[in-house]
Amino acid sequence: MTDTGINTSFKRNKRPQESPKEIADKLLAGDRSALSRAITFVESNKKTHQKVASEILKLCLPHSGKSLRIGITGVPGVGKSTFIEAFGCKVVKNFNKKVAVLAVDPSSQKSKGSILGDKTRMDELVTLDNVFVRPSPAGSTLGGVAQKTREAVFLCEAAGYEIILIETVGVGQSETAVKSMVDYFLLLMLAGAGDELQGIKRGIMEMADTIVITKADGGNENNAIKAKVSYQNAVHLFPPHESNWITRVLSSSSLEGRGLDRIWEEIEKYQDHIVSNGFMNENREKQSLNWFHESVKSELIGKFYDRPEVMQKIVELEKAIKENRISSFAAARELLN
Ligand code: GDP
Repeated sequence: MTDTGINTSFKRNKRPQESPKEIADKLLAGDRSALSRAITFVESNKKTHQKVASEILKLCLPHSGKSLRIGITGVPGVGKSTFIEAFGCKVVKNFNKKVAVLAVDPSSQKSKGSILGDKTRMDELVTLDNVFVRPSPAGSTLGGVAQKTREAVFLCEAAGYEIILIETVGVGQSETAVKSMVDYFLLLMLAGAGDELQGIKRGIMEMADTIVITKADGGNENNAIKAKVSYQNAVHLFPPHESNWITRVLSSSSLEGRGLDRIWEEIEKYQDHIVSNGFMNENREKQSLNWFHESVKSELIGKFYDRPEVMQKIVELEKAIKENRISSFAAARELLN
């Protein structure tokens, strides 16, 4: 602060206003901080920011799409963050890829620290040049959070990231949302943790393209082998994937770096498989159309409830319903009319 009371450090730090085009150009040239700023616009709920975000997205979209989008799920404690650290470092260093890590966690609020918000288990990954890590956007609805993450995927791709890892909390609906934006779905599971599918619903196991038994180390190796066999038997009974891919069960130790090469090999095989049989494009097209319809619905609902006369009418109709003066169905019709 100066004696005039002006916070000069603020003045110094303040970035001159950039146009959406300037941000997009820098992003397309691979500038990580421009990518970060672009995602901040995408995540903002302010109307003016949304306008900037949509202009940036428009400029970046033609340059997106050239990545493999990988969803990673599993119950809390299964080792997702540790896996992403070990696997991400390997993919960057040994296989020379640019890796972006995003997250979908509808329960998170920025202030509370979400998954990936606590990056302590990604110590090395976040220091690498070819890596971009972004915690889950805050938001009250899963659809909203997922939409923002999906747009962040496009921006990461436009900035040249080739492997996009999207972590999800693994406690409910967020897996389905992540599945709807990825090409490949990896489910991490624990060995010997009182099987009964560890609260992972069968539907989620059915969505997995690969299942990895984590923490196969420190005397837990035999348990991991047993779990591998039993899950491999279980997946045989599942309906076939639309992609015609057969789910395999693998094991790994993120702490000792074991099994990670094999997982990468599996991912490459999968990518070849879905590119050659056309599933990759077909699936992405289907996903885009789904998102289009979902966005129309949420925009319509948002616009409808935003109107003050609607809110006023809702209060009146609720009162009428409680007093049995109108049926719920008739009230809904009246409101929409
Ligand atoms: P998340 O909640 O799924 O993200 O799980 P974390 O990555 O935070 O890991 C939960 C705990 O398991 C931590 O204490 C990790 O150190 C431990 N852990 C993760 N991966 C491994 C592993 O490969 N082997 C062993 N022995 N422990 C692990």
